[in-house]
Amino acid sequence: MQVTICGGGNAAHTLAALISARQDCRVNVYTPLNDEVQRWRQGIEAGGGITVISQDGVLVGRPHRVSDDPSAVVPGSRLVLLALPAFAHEIIMRDIAPHLDDGAWVGALPARGGFDWDARHVFGSGEKSVIVFGLQTLPWACRIREYGREVAILGTKSEVDLAAWPPNHAAKVAALLSDLLGVPICRISSFLGLTLAGTGQLIHPGVMYGLFRDWDGCPYEDAPLFYQGIDAMTAHILQQLSDEVQSLRTRLEERFPALDLSAVLPLYDWLLRSYGDSIGDCSSLLNCFVTNNGYAGLRAPMRPSGDGLVPDFQTRYLSEDVPYGLVVIRGIAQLADLPTPKIDQVIAWAQKVLEKEYLVGGELRGRSVAASRAPQRYGFKSLDELLRKA
Ligand code: NAD
Repeated sequence: MQVTICGGGNAAHTLAALISARQDCRVNVYTPLNDEVQRWRQGIEAGGGITVISQDGVLVGRPHRVSDDPSAVVPGSRLVLLALPAFAHEIIMRDIAPHLDDGAWVGALPARGGFDWDARHVFGSGEKSVIVFGLQTLPWACRIREYGREVAILGTKSEVDLAAWPPNHAAKVAALLSDLLGVPICRISSFLGLTLAGTGQLIHPGVMYGLFRDWDGCPYEDAPLFYQGIDAMTAHILQQLSDEVQSLRTRLEERFPALDLSAVLPLYDWLLRSYGDSIGDCSSLLNCFVTNNGYAGLRAPMRPSGDGLVPDFQTRYLSEDVPYGLVVIRGIAQLADLPTPKIDQVIAWAQKVLEKEYLVGGELRGRSVAASRAPQRYGFKSLDELLRKA
């Protein structure tokens, strides 16, 4: 089977190495950014392939072809994996669309909110049928050690949820990916569940807001701890964000009883499911963060300024998790006529530091909505219309 991986970062390296180490797969890489193709090729030549190092041992894979020309690497691929930040999904899908085989499976890891609307917006008008899927998260925490040559898997999730469109393909795609990635991939019934269930979209903007909402502009000597620096007030904000998503889940389930949103867990339940053994004291949401070994020592994103450090507001914790996360949820809540005061408060702060405009007068109609994945961007005007395509 031929697999094309789109991207040139940590996730793309891990996928390229793991899948091309198998005898039964030929892996191509598509990456149009800067000089990444040259760097991949140099690294692969120098190392004789890409080495992936994990707790389970060492594997070496070698991609067949790496190119910035989609016509050289996409045709013939049964599976195309987008290992990219969400802001690059649409650009890359437009690049690859003319070169996809009829019936190709195209998916993002992680999908983030509204990926299915974006994909159907790009592929929908084409003549080919494309099966779209998304994973809740990347199965690994991974980092490149040497570009094109070596990548380290630092941790592996115990399982990852997947949704597909059309939904009846989810089981087949999940089975293939479980086998290829070596991680149990569980299908869930709808992309809407995947969109609402994301927890990074609550935790990352929520903690940035908690840490820096009253920042006075003075540089810090050290970067504050991100998760383990959470105080009672920030934990309360996270609880309120989670509660608002649960209210939205309830509203949707009441309106559409056939809709299965059981994958949309409260934040506390998700932490226990994902980090159970790593949490020292699970007596409260606050303690689940501050006693979580999986979060030990991780610091807030900062950049140098003078002799000190200032918050980096362009971090993906905001630039990805707000337009492709929190704003998407806010857009669905708007269609459901459900007030989300805490989500609004966090978006209002984030849009200021990001210099974007999502909320205007309490409505999601600012100029930056057009570059988000809110349902309004794709022209959805009612929940019925949205749910017909969920
Ligand atoms: P990365 O920063 O290492 O790689 C990003 C890559 O995306 C670039 O190398 C480039 O090839 C591509 N890209 C970026 N902007 C582009 C553009 N404008 N046009 C075309 N291509 C572009 O990121 P990563 O660590 O590989 O993460 C990929 C996704 O997975 C992100 O959404 C990240 O938040 C998520 N994620 C990563 C990890 C991890 O441990 N690496 C864990 C969980 C989730």
